[in-house]
Amino acid sequence: MDKDPPTVEHLRRHGVTHMTVWCHNFDCRHQATFSFDELGVADDDIFITLKNRFRCQNCGEKDVAIQPIWPDWKPNMKKE
Ligand SMILES: [Zn+2]
Repeated sequence: MDKDPPTVEHLRRHGVTHMTVWCHNFDCRHQATFSFDELGVADDDIFITLKNRFRCQNCGEKDVAIQPIWPDWKPNMKKE
């Protein structure tokens, strides 16, 4: 098992091209989706450290959560 936190390059190898960012302010909960390309992240960036680069556009909160959007995520969300 690889215990190191995944890098952007690692996620890209699994087909991840986008990430979701959402605000931890419970009164706000603003959410946005970004592509790695538009963010200009480097392949050797540790994914979880990317959250330090965000600030909520809606309320200015710096405490945000991020999550990779896996390629099989959309099919799983499809309505039956
Ligand atoms: Zn917010």
